[in-house]
Amino acid sequence: MKKVGVIGTGYVGLTHGVILAEKGNSVICYDIDPEKISRLQRFDIPIYEPGIKELVKKNCEEKRLEFTSDMDYCISSSDIIFVCVNTPPKRYYEGVFRRADLSFVENVARTIAQTMKSYKVIVSKSTVPVMTGKKIYETISKFNNSLDFDVVSNPEFLREGSAVKDSLNPDRIVIGVMKDSSENLLERPLKIMKELYSNFNAKIVETDLWSAELDKLLSNTYLSLQISFINKAAELCSATGADVSKIAESMKLDKRIGPFAFLRAGIGYGGSCFPKDIENLGTLLNDYHIDPSLFEQVIKINKGQRDGFIKLMECGLWTLKGKSIAVLGLSFKPDTGDMREAPSIDIVRALCDEGAIVRVYDPEALSEAGNHFGNSVSYCKSVEEAVYGADAIALLTEWDEFKTMDLQNVKSLMKEPSHFFDGRNVFDPSFMSGIGFYYYSIGRPYIKPVREVVK
Ligand code: NAD
Repeated sequence: MKKVGVIGTGYVGLTHGVILAEKGNSVICYDIDPEKISRLQRFDIPIYEPGIKELVKKNCEEKRLEFTSDMDYCISSSDIIFVCVNTPPKRYYEGVFRRADLSFVENVARTIAQTMKSYKVIVSKSTVPVMTGKKIYETISKFNNSLDFDVVSNPEFLREGSAVKDSLNPDRIVIGVMKDSSENLLERPLKIMKELYSNFNAKIVETDLWSAELDKLLSNTYLSLQISFINKAAELCSATGADVSKIAESMKLDKRIGPFAFLRAGIGYGGSCFPKDIENLGTLLNDYHIDPSLFEQVIKINKGQRDGFIKLMECGLWTLKGKSIAVLGLSFKPDTGDMREAPSIDIVRALCDEGAIVRVYDPEALSEAGNHFGNSVSYCKSVEEAVYGADAIALLTEWDEFKTMDLQNVKSLMKEPSHFFDGRNVFDPSFMSGIGFYYYSIGRPYIKPVREVVK
């Protein structure tokens, strides 16, 4: 059992803290936001993440997990400190890229330096550009060069919506440590981290600090690249009549590509990770005078998917002004209430700018949606309320609730003709046209709706 402190209890910190407690460690979670801590102390979980509430309650009751607003207590009671604070993109662009704002990480590094009295392993879990671990090390050493500590990079690979499952059963655990003067990985922090993860059934990748940081950025960038690849392919399919879904299914049968490849055409990626991580990588390439144009294209294609979706809607509806549009799904992916950089933000705003009457529904993201759309849209409590009297549906997030909705009933509540714009290629075009929808999806052939046969 290790004594672990977690600084920053958002999606990553909360999930990681709970999982380490569940694995038998003693965990103290701290956040700068006292409101968040007081909610967590009441088991009122600030994020939507399947399975997390039960684990928080269980581990608090079994005294392995606690939440505090006292950072000194968190640091002084822990031997291993995970830094899980946010690293959002800065506001200004360098070309198409934005740099990460590392002020939250720096802030934590300074506080740790001021507080620590005994040896600590300081672990960066936040996604950071290469060399941040070194900066943390230098910041703490500058403050007091007699302090005994090690800095480790242990990037997080969880996916929102399945964070608990992913963290309990990770594909890999990457541990990056500094090297000694003979270029060997430092043994002390490596041993401590391997002990911490000894009861996880996952391959441990031992590496240096910089490679661990870069591993995370490159992994997310590679996944973004696959998404933009299939979206560019979808454009060609739309222009020529091929079916991108069938092609993607076939490609995944190739073992070199594999069944889990991110080859699903749609309105593109969003969230707090993919957009930020590829932009971080881009700024790094620029810093080292390496041509970043491959990644510029990935970002441009991704943004183009949102504009393309609005064009698809104009193509089906002719003009958007005065049309009643039901938007189903706002979060950047299913099973989360997180709307950071979600495609829905640009799409809903564009619909409003065009003068459409927009009614939105999402199972978990409605409260966050208010911050983005204010009173420019109507917020609905159900699919039925959103689609009632609508000219069209725009499906933007593939929640199970939408995949399994009663489409006959949905259509009966809408105006005629009923248009369905599927931004996630959830439904089968023949099936949808059979119901009588004018159904449009991404990179798949358009099939005219089946009309009633006149006897
Ligand atoms: P988040 O915004 O949900 O949580 C960050 C938390 O840090 C917030 O609760 C904030 O109040 C707190 N915080 C900020 N400054 C603090 C300080 N000085 N002291 C204590 N707490 C402080 O962010 P997140 O989604 O959990 O992401 C955290 C990091 O993990 C980011 O670098 C992100 O890129 C990375 N990451 C996120 C995911 C994901 O799916 N969300 C996955 C992998 C990696």
